[in-house]
Amino acid sequence: MNKCSFCGRNEKDVNLLIAGISGHICDSCIDQAYNIVNEELKNKSSFSSSQLKIKKPQEIKDFLDQYVIGQDTAKKFLSVAVYNHYKRLKQEIDDDIEIEKSNIALVGRTGTGKTLLARTIAKMLDVPFTIVDATVLTEAGYVGEDIESVLTRLLQAADYDVEAAERGIVFIDEIDKIASKGDNPSITRDVSGEGVQQGLLKLLEGSIINVPPQGGRKHPDQKMIAVNTKNILFIVGGAFDGIDRKIANRLNTTVVGYNASKESHHIDRDNLLQYVAPQDLKSFGLIPEIIGRLPVLTYLDPLDRKALIRILTEPKNSIIKQYKKLFKMDNIELSFDNSVLEYIVDKAIEFKLGARGLRSICEHIMMDAMYEAPTSTKDKIRITLKYAQKKLSSIDSQKLRVA
Ligand code: ADP
Repeated sequence: MNKCSFCGRNEKDVNLLIAGISGHICDSCIDQAYNIVNEELKNKSSFSSSQLKIKKPQEIKDFLDQYVIGQDTAKKFLSVAVYNHYKRLKQEIDDDIEIEKSNIALVGRTGTGKTLLARTIAKMLDVPFTIVDATVLTEAGYVGEDIESVLTRLLQAADYDVEAAERGIVFIDEIDKIASKGDNPSITRDVSGEGVQQGLLKLLEGSIINVPPQGGRKHPDQKMIAVNTKNILFIVGGAFDGIDRKIANRLNTTVVGYNASKESHHIDRDNLLQYVAPQDLKSFGLIPEIIGRLPVLTYLDPLDRKALIRILTEPKNSIIKQYKKLFKMDNIELSFDNSVLEYIVDKAIEFKLGARGLRSICEHIMMDAMYEAPTSTKDKIRITLKYAQKKLSSIDSQKLRVA
């Protein structure tokens, strides 16, 4: 009778016995071996700092270019920041010079690619990374999540490897929503505001924070994990609706004050965010201490018609490429007339949906084709302008809105 060559049990005593060239292995030994392998691999975790592969800023930007259209300034700032983050992790402190971290603030309208940039960076990193939404954060004692939950997420991303989490990167989205009331017109809540900012400041500054491993206050007796945030890189992003008016005001004053006579002081009024400066964040309602902890401030460009058309087709996993792949799985070659792409973009602009709307517009155009194609005998489908117009004509623009 065959036996497991590892534990010696007979074939009849095990669930499964797999034969090799000159031996056998049973299911429970496979299970055990699998756990050993996992354990070993974990010890050799890719998060360990000696093994960090440093990508050069230009390599990081090249990678971002494959997925994100335009936004060159933001890409450069991010690439340098991430590169320096890695260098800081590798630094040996043998002299008095300690490279300090430079957290980053990204300012740009909704749907211009802030989160996409962060997600794409995460794809190529070998440090733990997490994205959190600032709108859920509240001061302790209020409904919502405590500031510490930011670190809980990072710990989870690091598989509870504290040392790895302490070198991770956190993207905090919608940071503008925790601006304190002040003269900021878009604020809708006030229990948080400055209190949350003070909490966040503690994370940004670098301190040791006790983190509930499961997050929240639902498990009051869970053991806390101490996490040092000194080396965690924070990237914050926000739309800062209305900040362009503050920038314009500031620029006007500057122009009048110093450069009134200089005609050359040209201001591009269509893209005021490019002039964003720390004092604009302050007048928006972020406390100066937070701004001081975000030394790298950069912006995202608004997306014009040309950029939106590129977004449809060019990125590595662009929407159009995804549809083609979906149809290819049913052996159907899908093609779009150029006029359709232009039509989709025009609709996104008309309904003020920006890049976020492209997908929902495509979904409405493609729904019937996706429903019918798998059972049809066609091996080619061409989407024409007439077809796209017909499919979209009955749709109420409200339906296209994305959250
Ligand atoms: P934000 O975080 O700035 O509000 P997102 O990054 O969430 O915007 O963008 C929403 C979606 O729009 C993305 O998932 C992506 O499909 C598309 N998109 C936005 N900007 C770009 C861009 N610059 N390049 C490619 N796709 C983009």
